[in-house]
Amino acid sequence: MSNLIEARNRMVERQIIRRGITSANVAAAFRRVPREAFVPDNLQEFAYEDSPLPIESGQTISQPYIVALMLEAAALKPTDRVLEIGAGSGYAAAVMSQMVKKVYAVERHDELTLLARERIRRLGYDNIELRTGDGTRGWPEAAPFDAILAAAGGPVVPAALSRQLAIGGRLIMPVGEDLTHQRLVKLTRTSETEYDEEDLGAVRFVPLIGEFGWTAAEAPTAPIRRRPPTQALEGPTEERLTELMAAAAEPLPDFDDPAFGALFDRFASARVVLLGEASHGTSEFYRARAAITRRLIEKHGFTIVAVEADWPDAASIDRYVRHRAQPRHAEPAFRRFPAWMWRNTDVEAFIEWLRARNETLPAERRAGFYGLDIYNLGASMRAVIDYLDRVDPGAAKVARERYGCLTPWSREPAAYGRMAMTSGYARCEKPVLAMLNDLLSRQLEYVRHDGEEFLDAAQNARLVKSAEAYYRAMYFGATESWNLRDRHMFETLEQVLAAKGPQSKAVIWAHNSHIGDASFTEMGQVRDELNIGQLCRERFGLQAALIGFGTHAGTVACATDWDGPMEVKEVQPSLPESYEHLAYDCGVSRFLLDLRKGKHDHLRHRLIRSRLERFIGVIYRPETERWSHYSECSLPRQFDAYVWFDRTRAVEPLPTKTRRGVLETYPFGL
Ligand code: SAH
Repeated sequence: MSNLIEARNRMVERQIIRRGITSANVAAAFRRVPREAFVPDNLQEFAYEDSPLPIESGQTISQPYIVALMLEAAALKPTDRVLEIGAGSGYAAAVMSQMVKKVYAVERHDELTLLARERIRRLGYDNIELRTGDGTRGWPEAAPFDAILAAAGGPVVPAALSRQLAIGGRLIMPVGEDLTHQRLVKLTRTSETEYDEEDLGAVRFVPLIGEFGWTAAEAPTAPIRRRPPTQALEGPTEERLTELMAAAAEPLPDFDDPAFGALFDRFASARVVLLGEASHGTSEFYRARAAITRRLIEKHGFTIVAVEADWPDAASIDRYVRHRAQPRHAEPAFRRFPAWMWRNTDVEAFIEWLRARNETLPAERRAGFYGLDIYNLGASMRAVIDYLDRVDPGAAKVARERYGCLTPWSREPAAYGRMAMTSGYARCEKPVLAMLNDLLSRQLEYVRHDGEEFLDAAQNARLVKSAEAYYRAMYFGATESWNLRDRHMFETLEQVLAAKGPQSKAVIWAHNSHIGDASFTEMGQVRDELNIGQLCRERFGLQAALIGFGTHAGTVACATDWDGPMEVKEVQPSLPESYEHLAYDCGVSRFLLDLRKGKHDHLRHRLIRSRLERFIGVIYRPETERWSHYSECSLPRQFDAYVWFDRTRAVEPLPTKTRRGVLETYPFGL
């Protein structure tokens, strides 16, 4: 509940005020009305997204910003009586009711009128009157109105409506000769016979259907409105864009062909090469990243593979690939949800390759495997204690005591965050910080035993410290915890680079949402989220290469809910307004697109304006795909290159049963 209120305030701040709506009354009205009460149940979690959402009767609830724009343009006053045409969910009427004396709202679908009336009654707004009817005729009995707002677009402003304006009254309506593209028009009635007209810009609304609007036959299906101006406005130039893209696309050979990796040599001078993925369960993304990484390791001196996985789990893979001894009670890696992300045949093949290659090299030239993520708190605490048991039993006792504070919560750390928030004090913050500081202050003494083991222990202690803060931050909201996690990932990367020396170079495998520069996506622009890609650019400049991945359709390994079983689902074909669809339309089935400045500048320029981009993580919900998985990004700014596969298939998870005859040290503990 409080999360929704926060989301609402954030929505007002970022989507409305930052975009230039200056009226304090408009902002205050949006702060009061719960948008989640006006959308279908299954979309409530998206209620404060920056977009229109589908509602009953095949209609849409408007994007908050566009409602705000109209309300501001209408210059509403507390004494005003207002008419709304196209009440839909009732949301805009509810917001207006907070600003004026009385709202009259007409909706042509009776189902919507009934639903809206019920919502408004429940929320206790008593100055709204709703009825079903043809709004193009207005509401003559209640006229004249100080303002009239139409939430649907017609070919002209119906005379019936302009006549129902009071002198001095304002009418705001989308008007356009085609069904889906309109200009937002403002009419101000200056006298009995005269009106001023103002153009407020391009918009896209559902059609106004009625006697003085479009006929139902002319408007068979209602498209969803998007923020103005939209890409589709460009019509014929769209074709040329796919041609430009096809010309720049460099086809990709087989994964096993050395030419595959060689295509990426151009990025090899970077200190960090970040390889993304558009889902956590697509085989092609793993195989492509493996091929690129093999090349960077073999030909270009990269010795660090750092992945979006938990440090202690990756550490046991690292011991395996670098032929280092496993600790006595080593836990099998990656047993927790989502296990398929790392326990799959593609990762296994890469790890076997790395181990075999390392075997031929002296220890200092072997490439290691490191985890950047934050989640395995329990294993990290155990690893620190085990380490100290070996090198400093006295300190191990202290560690047991200090971590004892968090131990009861290690299976359900979110509950710790809740406790810390409700009791108002972070009980374990000091002890975990003290533990890290102790460990670091004895670095010189400890590294005498073994530098690698020290790095591992120190990193685990850092993870415990970050995780303690992370679970508390969860209660301040998604942005804070996301930022804390990505900062931790970045700092871990820096630690590993520093440990390996000034010449060290790293390949990073993480989701597009982590490695694509967040400041050019909705993540950064609307939600204030940063990520490791952005931090790498800030720190390494041109020495950071950010490479995104994408696909049109196929299958993906995923879950429906967090902690749910792995499923293989069909990936829906990409949406028409997305970058993915452009890539698909250019007709090259798998390619590399170099997006760096100076390569294909004309294309780059044409791609810069934001479009939709699909993000599938561990969870995939095709039913609500547009709202759960797409957001607006500027691809050429987000990435330095884009790797494309038209069709992709799900990763194959490794069996979890015990297999006989496998090396005991095998990290997946098969
Ligand atoms: N203000 C609404 C937006 C709804 S979308 C909200 O905040 O949710 C526009 C609505 O206009 C649709 O519900 C559609 O059914 C309705 N509509 C279209 N033509 C109409 C007409 N002639 N009279 C009344 N409603 C109309």
